[in-house]
Amino acid sequence: MRLRRQIRRWVADGHPQPHAVFMQVGDNPASSQYVGMKNRQAEKIGCRSTIELLPEDTTQQQLLARLAIHNADPGVHSILVQLPLPGHMDEQQVAESISPLKDVDCFHPENVGRVALGLPAPRPATPQGIINLLDASGIELQGRHAVVLGRSNLVGKPLGLLLLERNCTVCYCHSRTPDIGAVTRQADILISAAGRAGLVTGDMVKQGVVAVDVGTNFVHILDDAGEPEYDEQGEPRMQLVGDLLFDEVAEKASWISPVPGGVGPMTIATVLENTVALYRRIEGV
Ligand code: NAD
Repeated sequence: MRLRRQIRRWVADGHPQPHAVFMQVGDNPASSQYVGMKNRQAEKIGCRSTIELLPEDTTQQQLLARLAIHNADPGVHSILVQLPLPGHMDEQQVAESISPLKDVDCFHPENVGRVALGLPAPRPATPQGIINLLDASGIELQGRHAVVLGRSNLVGKPLGLLLLERNCTVCYCHSRTPDIGAVTRQADILISAAGRAGLVTGDMVKQGVVAVDVGTNFVHILDDAGEPEYDEQGEPRMQLVGDLLFDEVAEKASWISPVPGGVGPMTIATVLENTVALYRRIEGV
């Protein structure tokens, strides 16, 4: 609401509407869902929002050419390229081709480096959304032992940096960590961003843990006999679950953020905050 009021005031004063561009290559259903939600929320706060949906067989050069057009367009203030990209594309080159001034999800190495140094930059949306969620819930971070499951450039790695910046003692676990439970049992704050349904069980956390589930995993719904259920069209019924075995972990947790809910909406909120911050810098308001 605060952002909507600010935008309305700027536009009334004769400034252009903030314009967010969300680029998606291919029609991965999860990506379409995320892009659709970001687009709707951006419009709700008064931004102009454009979804650019490119076909699955778009070449790297074609995508880079479209990015160059948005980079050069003074009417575009923020650009997000939805990941994952199709296998034939080079995500790193795409990240390096987004103007750092319009890089709403902190993909560009210049912004990643600035965040690592604690300098002003657009914050990576999901990690910053998690920090905002913990802050809004009154959870003390300073001095606490935070364990992050996952070390991707998008979520795990930058999340560890943001927790470090807030004076947590940070430990990462990943796919090559031999005994994850031995590490997670030490966590005051456990954040799972591995994308593995049921990875974290109740015996892997200590009493009173603060647990944040980031994983978004689509799994089959099983019937009483443990067989997959199908709908009338013969398609398997799926459900969205996180990485935590929710009931087991919730029993020991002092605070828990579930999937769906929690991190997803906070990620979108951070994209909007970043869009407005980029707009202010570009328009000088
Ligand atoms: P990714 O696949 O790039 O990285 C997964 C990380 O988890 C890797 O670093 C890998 O080493 C680690 N990992 C894999 N298996 C593991 C295991 N068994 N034990 C420990 N670590 C393991 O994924 P990502 O982009 O970092 O996303 C992680 C999850 O978060 C995915 O499920 C993704 O869909 C979800 N996500 C949610 C949001 C949101 O807004 N809710 C945003 C981004 C990502």
